[in-house]
Amino acid sequence: MKKIVIIGGGLAGLSAGYHLREYDPSVFEKEHAVGGLCRSFSQDGFTFDCTGHLIHLKNQYTKDLISKILPDAFGYHERLAAIYSKSTMTPYPFQANTYGLPAEVIKECVVGFVETLTASPNGGPKNFHEWVMKTFGTGIAKHFMLPYNEKFWKQDLRAITADWVSWSIPKPKLDEVVNGALGLTNKGMGYNPKFMYPRHGGIHCLPKALARQLRSVHVGETLEYIDAKKKYVRMKSGREESFDFLISTLPVPAAYQMIRDAPDALRHEAGRLQAISVLNINIGVARPNISDQHWIYFPEDQFIFSRVGFPANFSKSVAPDGTSSMYIEITHRPHEQLNLEETFERCLMDLQAAGILLKDDRILTRHVIDIKFAYVVFNEHRQKHLHTLIDYLESRGIYTAGRYGRWDYFSMEDSILSGKAAGEQILKTSALPLPS
Ligand SMILES: Cc1cc2nc3c(=O)[nH]c(=O)nc-3n(C[C@H](O)[C@H](O)[C@H](O)COP(=O)(O)OP(=O)(O)OC[C@H]3O[C@@H](n4cnc5c(N)ncnc54)[C@H](O)[C@@H]3O)c2cc1C
Repeated sequence: MKKIVIIGGGLAGLSAGYHLREYDPSVFEKEHAVGGLCRSFSQDGFTFDCTGHLIHLKNQYTKDLISKILPDAFGYHERLAAIYSKSTMTPYPFQANTYGLPAEVIKECVVGFVETLTASPNGGPKNFHEWVMKTFGTGIAKHFMLPYNEKFWKQDLRAITADWVSWSIPKPKLDEVVNGALGLTNKGMGYNPKFMYPRHGGIHCLPKALARQLRSVHVGETLEYIDAKKKYVRMKSGREESFDFLISTLPVPAAYQMIRDAPDALRHEAGRLQAISVLNINIGVARPNISDQHWIYFPEDQFIFSRVGFPANFSKSVAPDGTSSMYIEITHRPHEQLNLEETFERCLMDLQAAGILLKDDRILTRHVIDIKFAYVVFNEHRQKHLHTLIDYLESRGIYTAGRYGRWDYFSMEDSILSGKAAGEQILKTSALPLPS
């Protein structure tokens, strides 16, 4: 039988394994638990995910798959998200809910949007900054889109391409902008108006359920290198595993570090792919019902975080009775080391300034996760080199899957489907029959 090895026990690796399960693939995961970004952590009675991990499914296949492996495990929610700016909370998305902001701001947003409708198209947007200006106009750009995204991406938005925005940022119609300015709230816009979340145990139950379908999942095994010529991988533990087919869900730059004889020029280009990191501070607070929202965006620089979420509003099971929990997201450049204590103190101060925490609130617990590769940056370098980088890996028999293996803006659903696609590619290449 052909031997299939999968590196990474996140959703993509486990999904690849699941779709190849009749061929008994071996999954190797460096952490001591499967799940990758979909792990959850229990601490002092709280359950924390890596920030918020909410399931939005577009695809019938994934809906069926998830209900098959986890029947009746999810609660269903209508999104309650908001933006806090100019000391005002407005419903998400900003562009269609400006009512409540100062009158001058509302006017600039509406007039600017109307101007975009009559402007001559003048070619497609050259970059994300231009896309924002052309799509939303000067007011919405100035009061939300530019400050929020500059804070989030930590760079000039002219350096970011516009090839990822169409599905993830909702573009309103004129009547929605006008309704929103008049206080006739626009509900249900954007890619995530409704979502699912596990009733118990945090998001970790999803990768765990996939892993239960597999026979050979090895945790605590860190890949050290890939010998693509002799077709084996070596783990830091000294374990060696030969393969006929290899699937990597490692970030593309990390995969290139693993291949001993990869051309230096390609390794160099892979190393120049850019990502943004997220420092995720999770806290438990000794007060119930701290917010009625699922999450809140903070575009202004006076707040250190760009988003704060409230997991107990997804599932009561993640915080003990009489308490609340919060995830705080601070983006940073991967090599920038934030001072944790200072950052934590600043978060508490800023949460008080926003009226979310009270001065005498007791913090019961704190769990910090620094996600090095969190958001792939879409830029010209990615546009120019990604295909070549992935094609080369494939030419060496290394199939790639997942958010970082494909270096894309993948949701959990996309990552599951990407693992499936890698599995199917192997079956096609090897002429093995599709599993039933
Ligand atoms: C901040 C944030 C919030 C998100 N929120 C949502 C959301 O609300 N909804 C949604 O649908 N999606 C969300 N996502 C996206 C979602 O997390 C990803 O699409 C998905 O988890 C990616 O799975 P993956 O398997 O591709 O990658 P990963 O989860 O990163 O898995 C890769 C695995 O490889 C392992 N590994 C790395 N190096 C080695 C090595 N040398 N040897 C062995 N193993 C190794 C890692 O430990 C990891 O387990 C979010 C992502 C981020 C960053």
